[in-house]
Amino acid sequence: MLLTVAVGGSAMAADKVRVSTFSTILTEIAEQVGGELAEVTGHVKPGIDPHDFEPRPGDLKIVANSQLVLLSAKHMEAYVGKLREATGTGAVILEVGDRLPSLALTVQHGDHTHKGDDPHWWHSIRNIARAVKLVRDELSRLSPENKAVFKGNAAIYLGKLEKLQSWVDAEVARLPRNQRKLVTNHDSFGYFAREFGFTVIAIAGVSKDDQPGSKRVAALIAEIKSSGVKAIFSEDVANPKVIREITRETGVKFGGMLLSDGLGLGGKGTIEGMFRHNVSTIVEALK
Ligand SMILES: [Zn+2]
Repeated sequence: MLLTVAVGGSAMAADKVRVSTFSTILTEIAEQVGGELAEVTGHVKPGIDPHDFEPRPGDLKIVANSQLVLLSAKHMEAYVGKLREATGTGAVILEVGDRLPSLALTVQHGDHTHKGDDPHWWHSIRNIARAVKLVRDELSRLSPENKAVFKGNAAIYLGKLEKLQSWVDAEVARLPRNQRKLVTNHDSFGYFAREFGFTVIAIAGVSKDDQPGSKRVAALIAEIKSSGVKAIFSEDVANPKVIREITRETGVKFGGMLLSDGLGLGGKGTIEGMFRHNVSTIVEALK
């Protein structure tokens, strides 16, 4: 005689929704919302630059067996065609960023500029909360019998994000409005700036390979000197050479390293850890 035994709280591997994500931010969201009921593979690991990432055959093999593929999008994943090919029609590909409001970004290429969508939506906690709801709804469509569990997990996580938002608001409030100026290497803090009342002076464009020419560096040095800004920041995966030149030429201090393109390692390996690190670094250097 065969008995089907329901094991309280822990799902069998076969019952789990198979999720592939290409963003460290979305990996955390999928794990938090999916809980025991999702098998999440994060293809882009913490500390990896998502602008340069390319999936390998091993990634595509896992994607081919996934039910849900989560992408940052806003043109972050130029390889989306490869993923579509790998999944055939077998998976839902959710381009999360494309469902969130966009900020326009002016990208500097040498002496000309062009406009695009800023892909760094995760520096807004409101956007992260929106992403949580999108992932919750997609998991519920794929596994309707577990809708209530996903709803409960998402509610707990959204509560934590609300507390984080209050903490960030209180920290940023310590900085007078006219001191909320962020000089960073690549232009990745637009959503953060908009949510918390900063203005951004970006040294390079959205790609870290896109380093400014000497004319642009001279203009930046003049702009930074006249702005009265107190510190200049670098990023975890950025080339610090231009930053060094600018701190030397302006006499403005180096404020520390910020996480721009996703989660880091150790204590900076969670969304909360990323915000706490970035906000503390910014407030300490600018106050
Ligand atoms: Zn970036």
